[in-house]
Amino acid sequence: MEKGTSMLSREQAQQQDIKDEMHHYREEFYLQPGVTYLDGNSLGLMSKRAEIKVSELMESWKTYGIEGWTKGKYPWFFISEKLGEMCAPLVGASSEEVIVSGSTTSNIHQLVSTFYKPKGKRTKILADELTFPSDIYALQSQIKLRGYDPEEHLVRVKSRDGKLIMEEDIIAAMTDDIALIILPTVLYRSGQLLDIKRLTSEAHIRGICIGFDACHSIGAIPHYFSEWDVDFALWCNYKYLNGGPGSVGGLYVNKKHFGIHPGLAGWYSSKKDKQFDMEHTLVVEESAGAFQVGTPHVLSLAPIIGSLEMFAEVGIDKIRQKSLHITKYMTDLIEQELEGMGFSIGNPSEDNRRGGHICLEHDEAVRICKALVENRIIPDNRPPNIIRLAPVAFYTSYEEVWDTIQVIKKIITEKQYEKFDKKRNVVS
Ligand SMILES: *Cc1c(COP(=O)(O)O)cnc(C)c1O
Repeated sequence: MEKGTSMLSREQAQQQDIKDEMHHYREEFYLQPGVTYLDGNSLGLMSKRAEIKVSELMESWKTYGIEGWTKGKYPWFFISEKLGEMCAPLVGASSEEVIVSGSTTSNIHQLVSTFYKPKGKRTKILADELTFPSDIYALQSQIKLRGYDPEEHLVRVKSRDGKLIMEEDIIAAMTDDIALIILPTVLYRSGQLLDIKRLTSEAHIRGICIGFDACHSIGAIPHYFSEWDVDFALWCNYKYLNGGPGSVGGLYVNKKHFGIHPGLAGWYSSKKDKQFDMEHTLVVEESAGAFQVGTPHVLSLAPIIGSLEMFAEVGIDKIRQKSLHITKYMTDLIEQELEGMGFSIGNPSEDNRRGGHICLEHDEAVRICKALVENRIIPDNRPPNIIRLAPVAFYTSYEEVWDTIQVIKKIITEKQYEKFDKKRNVVS
């Protein structure tokens, strides 16, 4: 806690909730009575508006049959573009630079197969050693498909402390054998936010194409992909964006690349007015829409429409403001209440270097998480020693944060964690 600040209390948390302009959005979500949900960084909660949009799209199928492709409130033929338009303000891009299609991993395949152009000496891909495994598996397989050995052609920037990746180290690794860079915006374990603008400009100075995986920042942090001149980006919509389990992902492609042929083409890569000409020569759409492959997953797009309406109402800047405030509040509480109990905070403390979750470290993280669940608090555990806690701007209250830290304190002082085994669960 900062020197000079007075002790935090439960009453003060309640006051903070009264002051919070976003507090009433809790009513929009299905919060379970007695449960504090702090895992919105893995799977966001269901909103009433998401549910309504699912019913509306079911209804359009019921009513229109095949005609639903062009009729109704959300004609299915244009639904991915419509969602791209709704998503564009969240990533700082124009509508035609964004499409909601595919999944994170399939979009990595799509964009890497498009933008990885090994030539002469430039044959390698640069990533980092802390990123999510699926991203690495996709890159390894893309490298193999070009006939290269991933051991040699996938360069992973090392972390100095196992938590953070230093921008200086990434820049130093931008050597003249690198063809493509792909990095997370926010690291999924430590919650570190990378300097996207700086990395993009350094990559371009060296003539390297750069893309970002924004899974852990979309819906939590504003982005300015167009202004920063990022080449491409991709993300999932089921974390902070509350699009539902397995909801369709999204991608951004800078308009300077429009017209490029997608690495993985399909009939939805076509110019829309030519798609039904049924020619065997593909005329590629000149927008991010070109990176679609097949028919949109209409029912898995539906909840995202409802959710994005709320993001448009509040605006991402206000969401970020609350997120920074409530995560800082949690950090202050951890420092005030859990001192000397073996905890440390793994995320950077500077606002411009941290994402939407707190990375709380403890040697007994696995068992503490099990005890939290027994106390009806839902965290997530990243072995060996991380407890991720995400107070989400839309639906977490300050009072819940206060209560959570009190419960953690009790779990330690009463040694509640000792009755659980140390094996992590299948899904954690
Ligand atoms: C959540 C997440 C994924 C998941 O990919 P899916 O294709 O949606 O299963 C991949 N990469 C990162 C960095 C993630 O945070």
